[in-house]
Amino acid sequence: THSINTSETDVLIIGAGPAGLMAACWLARTGVPFRIVDKRSAKIFAGQADGLQSRTLEVFQSFGFGDRAEKAANHFEDMCFWSPNEKGDIIRKGRNPDSVQGISRFTECVIHQGNIEQWITDSITKWSQGQGKVERATLPLKMSVDESLINDTSAYPVSVLVKKLNEDDEAVPEQYGAKVTNGLYRQFDGDQDKFYSDLQDGLLDDTHELIKCKYVVGSDGAHSWVRKQLGIDMIGDTTDFVWGVLDMVPLTDFPDIRNRCAIHSKDAGSIMVIPRERDLVRLYIQLHEVPRLEDTTKSEFGGGDAAVSAKGSTTGRVDRSKITTEFIVKQAQEIFKPYTFDITDLDWFTGYQIGQRVSPQFQAYNRIFIAGDACHTHSPKAGQGMNVSMMDTYNLGWKLAHVCKGLAKPEILETYEAERIQIARDLIAFDHKLSRMFSGRPMVPNSEGSSDGVDMAEFQAAFKKGAEFASGTIVDYAPSILEVKEPTPNVEVQYYTKYATKVGVGRRLDSSLIQSQAEGRPWHLADRIPSDGRWRVLNFCGDIKNPELAAANKELSCFLLSGDGFAQYTPVNARTDSVVEVLTIHATPRYECEGTDFPQGLWPKDSHGRNDYWKIYAGIGTSFHKGPCDIYEFFGINTNKGCYIILRPDGYVSHIVPVGAEGIKEIQQFFARFMLPQTQNVLQKDANTPDTDR
Ligand code: FAD
Repeated sequence: THSINTSETDVLIIGAGPAGLMAACWLARTGVPFRIVDKRSAKIFAGQADGLQSRTLEVFQSFGFGDRAEKAANHFEDMCFWSPNEKGDIIRKGRNPDSVQGISRFTECVIHQGNIEQWITDSITKWSQGQGKVERATLPLKMSVDESLINDTSAYPVSVLVKKLNEDDEAVPEQYGAKVTNGLYRQFDGDQDKFYSDLQDGLLDDTHELIKCKYVVGSDGAHSWVRKQLGIDMIGDTTDFVWGVLDMVPLTDFPDIRNRCAIHSKDAGSIMVIPRERDLVRLYIQLHEVPRLEDTTKSEFGGGDAAVSAKGSTTGRVDRSKITTEFIVKQAQEIFKPYTFDITDLDWFTGYQIGQRVSPQFQAYNRIFIAGDACHTHSPKAGQGMNVSMMDTYNLGWKLAHVCKGLAKPEILETYEAERIQIARDLIAFDHKLSRMFSGRPMVPNSEGSSDGVDMAEFQAAFKKGAEFASGTIVDYAPSILEVKEPTPNVEVQYYTKYATKVGVGRRLDSSLIQSQAEGRPWHLADRIPSDGRWRVLNFCGDIKNPELAAANKELSCFLLSGDGFAQYTPVNARTDSVVEVLTIHATPRYECEGTDFPQGLWPKDSHGRNDYWKIYAGIGTSFHKGPCDIYEFFGINTNKGCYIILRPDGYVSHIVPVGAEGIKEIQQFFARFMLPQTQNVLQKDANTPDTDR
């Protein structure tokens, strides 16, 4: 028999959709060895998810490609609500702002998934100097875990056998409807088993490789092979609502076709209108007379959902092969009446059956993690699937990097499941409510006393409230090794602290303008704290004319320059600020103080004696060109008290403490919970030392 090719990597990512790519992006950015494989031979070119929410855009910005979304995507201003009048014709009943005003500096926009995947891929290429590439047409066949090695952080306990497929045929899923690409893939789930059983017969050859890994990320979509290997189920249910999705250029006299709209017709169902880039419009259409098959075995339906069976008022399961564009357009014409509707330039289409499921477990052995559609699926209505999937691995990636680099204890990985499973459950509950209201028949005016149907005012209100959740900005992580907070009962937003009354511990830190002390240039705070793997301590030192606050700065400086400071967590050959960076944001008028009024530990010199001018900012001031800023007011921080905010590498607030000795002690205690001393650790590869983003 052939001896097998064997290799090692710190992290193997299985599945290069948005979730897998986001994991790879973190690992590339932080210089951790990884591989990313995908069974498909090509990236996607059209269709699938398209909505980008505020939080996702903040994250893109933090990796340096937010500007690409700004330029290429279609940005929404308002959302229109249409439903029937007494005659049964649809009329416009309301207009709301599409995103919640003031919730983020970024508002919702849409662009097709292939573009988004490309931006992340380009970022991976940039940060890995071309090393990190998606290995396509690569199919995992077998995964095994050596349990005796689980507690050894330097070991590679997970082995994955992969097969390189023949790119031309084996790796391309067959599609129904050949002319336009669509989401109605036939599954080729069984292939893995077939290839593996062939292998049992001794057919090991050069197309096989055994990859030994420290960690595995299963981001392989709704039919996740990794999830099945771990024996983890998806729990939840399926509804009767079947939706068609069309990406095309519409021919219509409907006046709001370039606005995001929710349309409920009297009897013909509902439509969501999503205006897109390049004059495209996406319609999500509720399909009424869905073609059904006769037998009752389970069907696999297109879209991101797992295999589902149609039930309810039907005679059988959904026949995907009969879902054609003509079929979908016909239903759309009924809903749009009395407006005319036709299409040209069809780009993509699919059929979707709404199912809402979540896995009870997102990891095994604290070594193998599942993320994205692999552990939660739901309807596409609120534009959440891709966003929440990317946010899963945005949560996981930096933790893996910390553990692989030996900076932190593996316990921090346990927070991944705890933090993300709650989000997935909240998402399913949100989707449950929204999709039922969306798919339901509207309450028709004049149908006196009838309680049937969806109240349109209630629907509009639910949508407005839902927009806050959908933005991704109000995610609130629970207390853990990484989050220091006491629950406060009966308060809508918990965990606001007395030191920063508008900042929630466990939430992402919002951003506002600050001014560079050295140059006066206004910056968004978030743009000074990019996703580069570093922790931040934000020293809101207040007004340094107050002698107590000036003394607190001296104390902090001494701490930072001492052996008790962050030097103990910094590998010996790394920059002093490469694990924890301290930024000082003061409240003294910028013209009334100098950089030299701040002790040296707050703007450390590098090994060549060069000053670091990028550590000290004025939090209150006026830019000649951008106007006034007051981040103390924005965060609710008293300028005569100040505070230290500890921020995770993913921008979530871990802890808020008072300035001076008491706060410094709390900072020490916080990091001692999970960071590992680095006095012996020489980083093999001091890649991406964060000094390039100045
Ligand atoms: P995916 O994007 O599904 O990525 C998984 C990746 O893993 C794929 O590249 C796949 O080839 C690969 N893979 C799968 N199995 C294996 C394996 N065994 N080995 C190696 N690689 C594997 N969302 C919406 O909001 N609106 C829509 O209209 C919409 N339409 C969709 C249509 C389709 C056909 C699909 C599949 C999804 C759709 N979605 C839609 C959902 C949205 O695309 C997902 O929520 C989002 O892509 C989730 O990202 P992910 O990375 O978790 O999974």
